[in-house]
Amino acid sequence: MSGEPATERIEQFQKMVDADPTNEIGYFGLGSALLEAGRADEALVALGRAVELNPNFIGALQLLAEAERQAGQEAAAAETLKRAYQVALRRKDTKGAEKIRMQLAELGVQVQAAEAGGFDTAATFQCSRCGRTEGQMQEPPMNNPLGREVREKACEQCWQQWMLVSVKIINELGLNLVQPQARHVWDVHMREFFNLR
Ligand SMILES: [Zn+2]
Repeated sequence: MSGEPATERIEQFQKMVDADPTNEIGYFGLGSALLEAGRADEALVALGRAVELNPNFIGALQLLAEAERQAGQEAAAAETLKRAYQVALRRKDTKGAEKIRMQLAELGVQVQAAEAGGFDTAATFQCSRCGRTEGQMQEPPMNNPLGREVREKACEQCWQQWMLVSVKIINELGLNLVQPQARHVWDVHMREFFNLR
């Protein structure tokens, strides 16, 4: 992430989580900025909150594991990555699972590899962003019409990517998602990301 120094982004995301303590993207952004500033102990608290709010947020689980590793908590990091691995398997994200399996191997932890093609695929589904015919989300990622539309048209892996991309958008545009206007801008970017009309 380029642009503003980490301290400014820490402040911005701190404001966001103060205003909306149920926003996992706010906590994810805060944790990411803290980690970048070398404040791993504080980062793991923020990231812990992000995965408490959304236990299926793979990007936050991976970053939490990195914060734990930097804070010298290697055993905790391995447990967190195992959780991320389980989420990826459950979400039928074979590629994502493989990446996490390799991160675990770097920590000296072996887990059984996911079997490619071993998952059921819904024949009628094709992701509007990446074109894959597998990995449709089990549930809408947000409880609103746009969330239901995204669930219908996009895959889980692309949703996980969107959560990472949206943090950058929030940074760059200085969006405060508590405000309806900022929320609208966020929705427009989301539609663009997923090729939704
Ligand atoms: Zn996709």
